[in-house]
Amino acid sequence: MPIEIVTIPCRSDNYAYLAHDPATGTTAVIDVPEAAPIAAALAARDWKLRDILLTHHHTDHVEGVEALRAATGARVQGARADAHRLPPLDRALAEGEAIDIGSEEGTVIDVSGHTIGHIAFYFPETGVVFTADSLMALGCGRVFEGTMPMMWASLSKLAALPPGTLVCSGHEYSAANARFALTIDPDNAALATRAAAVFAATEQGRPTVPTRLAEELATNPFLRAADPAIRARLGMETASDAEVFAEIRKRKDRF
Ligand code: ZN
Ligand code: FE
Repeated sequence: MPIEIVTIPCRSDNYAYLAHDPATGTTAVIDVPEAAPIAAALAARDWKLRDILLTHHHTDHVEGVEALRAATGARVQGARADAHRLPPLDRALAEGEAIDIGSEEGTVIDVSGHTIGHIAFYFPETGVVFTADSLMALGCGRVFEGTMPMMWASLSKLAALPPGTLVCSGHEYSAANARFALTIDPDNAALATRAAAVFAATEQGRPTVPTRLAEELATNPFLRAADPAIRARLGMETASDAEVFAEIRKRKDRF
């Protein structure tokens, strides 16, 4: 039985997600930008929170942890590499380690780059990955702590997941990401269609996440460093994919 996903808008542009296993009644939350909307989403469904899964140390992903822990008794799990700057962890995680949401087994993927110690949570049976500020809808996180090659390696791991995978990312940045993507990949018809849908959703205040990996592979410029049209436009026909990615990321920083 697939896990049920609930998208919870938090703060001004953050997302947390509930992941619920109907078979066992187990519920986890991925990131806690603030406690109140998550507590309300749990109460509305009469779900009891067992786990708080943290993707990285930034305040806008962890600020509500202690309030939610106190209210629910949930155990907090996050990256071992980040243990010194995350709220106290009940379990420290590293790449390849197993996690579960009741009957559904998942795995930790190291996606460092935005920060060192950023992790993603992948559940292959349902086909969902929680990526926060690594892979985002039509974008990726800014590379603050890691290097460009590191971020490219992290995105490449996510890009290699099955294309049907649902991508649950951490922010509503899609409209700005779409405007930028159109400057990099203006002749991509799939991108034009998606951008129009994103602008319409944003205007109506509807979330543009989660998305499917196949859609990201077709339209997200940060996953398309190998694309001949993008390379030609950037004058980087002979560069490595990591170099093309780095150039696209630098242009986005200035956009
Ligand atoms: Zn962040
Ligand atoms: Fe963030």
